[in-house]
Amino acid sequence: MKYAINWDLDSIFPGGSNSQELQNRMVELDNQIKEYHDKVIDWKPESDSVDKFVEILDLQEVISKGFSQCGSFIGALLSSDINDDKAKLVYGDFSKKYPAVQLAQTIFSKKLSEIDDEKWTELMLTPELKDLSFRLSEIRRDGKELLSEAEENIISTLNLDGLNAWSSHYDTIVASIEIPYVDEEGKEVSLSAGQAFNKMMGDADASVRADLFEKWEKAWSDKVDVFADTLNHLDGFRLSTQKLHGVDDYLKQPLEYNRLKEETVDAMWSTIQANKQPIVDYLTRKAQLFGKDKMEWQDQDAPIVLGDMEERTYTFDQAAEFIVENFEKFSPKMSKFAQEAFDKSWIEAEDRPGKRPGGYCTGLPETQESRIFMTYSNSVNEVATLAHELGHAFHSSVMWDMPSLNQDYAMNVAETASTFAELIVADATLKSAKTKEEKINLLDVKMQNAIAMFMNIHARYIFENAFYQARQKGLVSADEITSMMVEAQKEAYLDGLATYHPHFWAAKLHFFIDDVPFYNFPYTFGYLFSMGIYAYANKKGSNFEDEYISLLRDTASMTSEELAEKHLQVDLTKPDFWQAGIDMVLADINEFMELTEEYVK
Ligand SMILES: [Zn+2]
Repeated sequence: MKYAINWDLDSIFPGGSNSQELQNRMVELDNQIKEYHDKVIDWKPESDSVDKFVEILDLQEVISKGFSQCGSFIGALLSSDINDDKAKLVYGDFSKKYPAVQLAQTIFSKKLSEIDDEKWTELMLTPELKDLSFRLSEIRRDGKELLSEAEENIISTLNLDGLNAWSSHYDTIVASIEIPYVDEEGKEVSLSAGQAFNKMMGDADASVRADLFEKWEKAWSDKVDVFADTLNHLDGFRLSTQKLHGVDDYLKQPLEYNRLKEETVDAMWSTIQANKQPIVDYLTRKAQLFGKDKMEWQDQDAPIVLGDMEERTYTFDQAAEFIVENFEKFSPKMSKFAQEAFDKSWIEAEDRPGKRPGGYCTGLPETQESRIFMTYSNSVNEVATLAHELGHAFHSSVMWDMPSLNQDYAMNVAETASTFAELIVADATLKSAKTKEEKINLLDVKMQNAIAMFMNIHARYIFENAFYQARQKGLVSADEITSMMVEAQKEAYLDGLATYHPHFWAAKLHFFIDDVPFYNFPYTFGYLFSMGIYAYANKKGSNFEDEYISLLRDTASMTSEELAEKHLQVDLTKPDFWQAGIDMVLADINEFMELTEEYVK
């Protein structure tokens, strides 16, 4: 093997969870937080010189980077070995630093919010602050909503054993999930949630998928009350916090966080909703290829293997080469970056027990690097995931030289670079198809993403809305949550499936993330936004790379609507942009329907 399938963490902090360097950095961080706190307290924004403001921002920068550096490293330890108890303790120590930072941040935000408008405009025009004005104005806006310092401090201290604790409690329950399975040699084994999920959705044998799906559903339903408690308290804690701040619209926070207007999100979903019938037809056709009348939940992502075709696989090394080669066609810089990530072992890809499920990319601003986590087992899908995570890492890499404040892009645009990278690889894979059967197979792999964005993610959005509305009135029972989930799935899939996934809400990590609610619509936004960029790139040719990078660099310095207007000259509150992206998907669907016609007679 040419490239390592385990990531290098030692070059960040040597020694894993016992790292002395990590401990040292954490102690240093404490001191920097204290210094920052004192400086902010002393600061008189109306009368002090701009230099004082800049000094505070510089220290904020150092702390922000330190936090990310340590946090990413500890997170990496936790996900690559769920049994690393020492890492859990270190994580506990690390989390304790949040309240102190948040307290200082509260004071800072409040001071910003107290500056009068005239003085603010004047400050934001100074050369030192002008480039940061968008982000600083957001902090000032949020500052106006804050309670007293003492109250904010109480809330953030209670968060640790409240909101954050419920989220990590979820991880603990998931780690205890075991799915019984009889393997190819007839041996009884137990699969972790992550292993079972991959097999259930990806195995070529329909009976294996059906069998696992049944056991999967059972595993989550066996612990349904614990999951219901966790979800109720996590979101209950969040709702209470919002209420204490005088906020009664639970969508306010996710919309502001994603720098989106509600109008935009509505325009996106309603355009999607109007285009769903062809997607349902696609799913039905796919079910027919499996010899069924209608699509069953666990078959949605299953591979279509027709005739005597062999499903294409890529070893990790082959995946690396394929990605580097195809990135090159759109952006040599992106390609060079991916090559560096492989060369320097930034990716944890090994398929082994004891790892968390899923994939992510995490940034290390102090060393200006990223790390990617996933489980790679040679499928075309995983090549796409790998490209996806590299897209995230590339996005970070083009921003490392900017102030941290301007690197703080939201999830919706975070998913843009990743989806864009994924699209490049999906199209390249499709173009390399040698037979009709292989083309059908690969077209379907590509479609899975679109279908997830339009149907599954939409179901999550509908569900989360329903859940929050109910939770505002009181606790929601496990049964009610489960039926909300099924209702949401039926609505999102136009009632077009034969079976649904009632305990999806328990199995899906995204509902249990503590930092931001509604971890769903930004995905669909990012997907369609990147489709728009992809169409633009195909039209544009040679100048595209620089334009793309300048778009990425602007992702944390303006609203999403402004970003689209500036770089793509489109209005996100109107259906046209969304329709154009959806039309690209519909074209693929048409091709699929034509190619598969003869197989369902
Ligand atoms: Zn992503």
